[in-house]
Amino acid sequence: MQESPKTSTGKFVFGPVPSRRLGRSLGLDIVPRKVCTLDCVYCQVGRTTDLTVRRGDFVPVAAVLAEVAAALGRGPRPDYVTISGSGEPTLNVRLGEIVAGLRKITDVPVAIITNGTLLGEPDVRRDCAGADLVVPSLDAGDEATYQRINRPTRGLTLAALVDGLTAFRQEFAGQYWLEVFVVAGVNDSPQQVAKMRTLIERINPDRVQVNTATRPTAEAEVGAVPAVRLAEIARELGPRAEVIADFKAQTASGATEISDEAVLALVARHPAPAEEIAAALGAKLEQVARTLAALDAAGQIKSSRRGGKTYYEVM
Ligand code: SF4
Repeated sequence: MQESPKTSTGKFVFGPVPSRRLGRSLGLDIVPRKVCTLDCVYCQVGRTTDLTVRRGDFVPVAAVLAEVAAALGRGPRPDYVTISGSGEPTLNVRLGEIVAGLRKITDVPVAIITNGTLLGEPDVRRDCAGADLVVPSLDAGDEATYQRINRPTRGLTLAALVDGLTAFRQEFAGQYWLEVFVVAGVNDSPQQVAKMRTLIERINPDRVQVNTATRPTAEAEVGAVPAVRLAEIARELGPRAEVIADFKAQTASGATEISDEAVLALVARHPAPAEEIAAALGAKLEQVARTLAALDAAGQIKSSRRGGKTYYEVM
């Protein structure tokens, strides 16, 4: 197996991957799969195995920063270093230290993608404050829908989530983009959207980004909301809301060699079609297709169809 010259395949760093909202994003995974405060029905990483609100010391900070520095040294320069991955990143008690460490080694903007459930805690707000961009989530307008779509750790409520999201907005000077993930038949009705709008007006984010299930999810029956309804929902959510457009594949550089690890690292966090993997790795589509076929034959990945495309993910 060969190390790709174009791609970071470390323990903590993945990509750069194409991101619908962040362009070329160098991912940083600082929580083990799948440690999370929620067990969302639409999760692309699968079911939560450790449902918890307890923060932990999951990764050696120096090793994480060394991997980022090495990845940045290899290029290409990403648009963001994005802390997200296969669990909830604010569960990492060293998040603030990691953000501060990134600031010392690069001027690439730092983004944190979080479900927002721990933003009610001052320590977590402090840890996130050093980022340039924070993208939290709100997927429900009432408690019953919150429980149904996000399946939180016992004791977490929608009211507490909204309080935390609002408190962070009041303190945070960077960009604050709120993601709203809609699932057909669960939170896409005009009534539910109107309730979410009321909460969003209180939270006051810079942007609201409407997303839906275009990739394989934790629960197979989770349905994507059609594009026409998505556009209506964005209008109903107010002037700052937009539908996150599908990522347009970036031009591949045409590298002919990619490693199995590079492909596995990508699809472990982010089920993706072959074209998207090729764009992310700067590789030729035929080479990616050959690697996927070999990994499939070896039982290391599986594929499923969604929206007319074939997505690959780890077994
Ligand atoms: S979508 Fe995010 S918040 Fe929801 S279960 Fe998956 S990792 Fe956790």
